[in-house]
Amino acid sequence: MSQTLNKNRLPDHSAPAVILSRSEHDISRNQIDENALKVLYRLNRHGHLAYLVGGSVRDLLLGRAPKDFDVGTDATPEQTKTLFRNCFLVGRRFRLAHIRFRGHQLVEVATFRRNPDADELPSDSDDHFHFVQNVYGDPREDAFRRDFTINALFYNIDDFSVIDHVGGLKDLEERTLRMIGDPLVRFEEDPVRMLRALEFSARLDFSIDAEIISAIDQRRHLLSSASSARLREELMELFRHRVAGQVCEMAQRYGLLDQLFADIPFLPQTFALLKLIDQRTAEGKPIRESLALASLVLPAFFERCPTERNQHINDALAVADQLLRPHCLHYSIAQGIRCEARDLLLGCFRLARGRGLKGESRFLRHPFTAQIFEFFVLWCQIDHSLNDTYALWQGALATEAGEHTGERKSPRRRRKRPRRKAAMQP
Ligand code: ATP
Ligand code: MG
Repeated sequence: MSQTLNKNRLPDHSAPAVILSRSEHDISRNQIDENALKVLYRLNRHGHLAYLVGGSVRDLLLGRAPKDFDVGTDATPEQTKTLFRNCFLVGRRFRLAHIRFRGHQLVEVATFRRNPDADELPSDSDDHFHFVQNVYGDPREDAFRRDFTINALFYNIDDFSVIDHVGGLKDLEERTLRMIGDPLVRFEEDPVRMLRALEFSARLDFSIDAEIISAIDQRRHLLSSASSARLREELMELFRHRVAGQVCEMAQRYGLLDQLFADIPFLPQTFALLKLIDQRTAEGKPIRESLALASLVLPAFFERCPTERNQHINDALAVADQLLRPHCLHYSIAQGIRCEARDLLLGCFRLARGRGLKGESRFLRHPFTAQIFEFFVLWCQIDHSLNDTYALWQGALATEAGEHTGERKSPRRRRKRPRRKAAMQP
């Protein structure tokens, strides 16, 4: 990135784009998913602009492996569809082309869009985000509608150049997250961007521009009224990217935690547990929403619910429901996920009460118990008073697992079935 870059603090609409030719950046086609390349080449061969856009260009320039490769083009979704047999148009409000490949692989192709002018906005629009997503524009306009400068870089398949309309290359070099345009306005348009700011700062280890921090301070109240479906998705992204603990700490520092989790009391142990969950995900273990939910709630659950041996499981059930229900209603989380999270909490309660209580052997045999125990082990790293209890259960579960895998000390004898007499031949 040797070129002179835009030195303005905020991107200037009139400033020309910075273009890095192939020799001035390190992105090689070997690093790009082959299906994404096929899509880019085909669009390009048919006379359309075809760019790699969004997070993939950012990640490639940072030397990280992109999660997905999104394509931007001047072809409309309908034009894209005519070029690919395996293309499906999706989204009623936000038309996108999905090009499907073998092995459930998918390349998302979006037509360049722009921020509509104020007089184009419908007067009754309380759904600014969706309306804005649907006005087609040119590549430069498409860059300016995006959230952060580092998320608005393009890779042009036609000449392998990187195109920067918004000062994103400079911010990548400075490792700073900067909003495109005025953060106060951009957060009013879409408050979810406040959470995304914390997420990208944590994921990439970037500092957050002071203007974003000041705007979060002034606009944080808007977050609780943002689309709960989009917030829920963005919250799961925190877990998938192993930054849930870190982002929740930042959210507390910037006054966003209550906006996100009005119904879940956060304790110091909650942050610690979330960080252990993030470590677990970093080890390559899949993160289900039920586990994410249970880990947000477990410390408050144990604080409210004593675990003496004579404590009835129904008391624990009531506390679990009290904590989970309002959150799940707010975020429209399906009952199945809530029940699985509740079972994780109740399972930890059973384990914390100690061994030798009614129903133990059935509990030990239950297929879900291994998952509960794995979760409980994380909690024991925080609450050391449970160490002895943990050791007792560990032995019992190991024996049970051994029996399952057929490592029994004395193999069970099979009773021989008496053979049926062969039918008499005539
Ligand atoms: P990753 O996929 O690695 O999580 P990403 O940058 O690709 O990161 P996505 O959520 O996949 O993030 O979004 C793709 C792109 O769409 C972003 O890079 C950004 O340019 C744009 N974008 C996403 N959400 C918003 C938003 N709320 N406002 C403006 N632009 C957005
Ligand atoms: Mg992405």
